[in-house]
Amino acid sequence: MTTALITHPDALTHVTPPGHPERVARIEAVNEALTAPEFTFLIREPAPLADASQALHGHPQGYIDKFRAAVPVSGEVAIDPDTWLSPGSWQAALRGLGGCLRAVDMVLGGEARNAFVAMRPPGHHAEARRAMGFCLLSNAAIAAKHALDHHGLARVAVMDFDVHHGNGTQDILWDEPRALFVSTHQMPLYPGTGAPDERGAHDNILNVPLPPHSDGAQFRAEVERQVLPRLDGFAPDLLIVSAGFDAHRADPLAQLDLGAEDFAWVTERLCDIADAHCGGRVVSTLEGGYDLDALAASVAAHVKVLMERGA
Ligand SMILES: [Zn+2]
Repeated sequence: MTTALITHPDALTHVTPPGHPERVARIEAVNEALTAPEFTFLIREPAPLADASQALHGHPQGYIDKFRAAVPVSGEVAIDPDTWLSPGSWQAALRGLGGCLRAVDMVLGGEARNAFVAMRPPGHHAEARRAMGFCLLSNAAIAAKHALDHHGLARVAVMDFDVHHGNGTQDILWDEPRALFVSTHQMPLYPGTGAPDERGAHDNILNVPLPPHSDGAQFRAEVERQVLPRLDGFAPDLLIVSAGFDAHRADPLAQLDLGAEDFAWVTERLCDIADAHCGGRVVSTLEGGYDLDALAASVAAHVKVLMERGA
């Protein structure tokens, strides 16, 4: 077994206005980085188109209908000041979700030890009833529900190291006792949620805010002090990672001072948890990361660890 890379050209069809940080070039940079020779042995799998009904694991029908109806025939329309729809957005979002569900199926079906889903738009800000923060469908949360309800797992953990709090994942998993959601994020920062006293209906959420300008040493210390013991105690049957790389020091949207080596380190530690409890089963999905060079280097570091640990 090894590592699956799941992507699809439809990730390029969700178009945002000029100057928007969540842009087509992000996926182009990721794809370019993953063409390096060291990535030859990835299992490259096209992201299937999810059926819209599969999004019902995370969103009510009314939300999905409204999203579909809002997609423009041409040009771009804003849902809020940050979040835009273009003619390809519906297809791109369903491919992104389909990629995450396929990743879960591959990892749980023994086709791959772990998987990385390189799609956009990201998902972790999309709440059950509200698209926001560049995000349309809450892919990581829906993937967790899919693993619980479709595959019958007892416990699924989602770890989100994007620099922004995963409010959408938290919203959807809030009342899900079979899921643990853990998030490290800068605070204060968009979207403003993610305080430590937000703990879920079943004490199933752990928020670990970091002050602006926290560096890799501070990040690692909090991961070791809070995140890893909590994940270890939960003993997940599958670990889903919301892999945002905007905590990088070069990122224009936030003020944490991490580097690619810190993303490699946290990936190692998350693989340790997965090795201890679930045969190394990790599904990672791309969230943020808006400096193209930092994004490319960070994704490469992350996937390199997944490959080493998945071999
Ligand atoms: Zn982010």
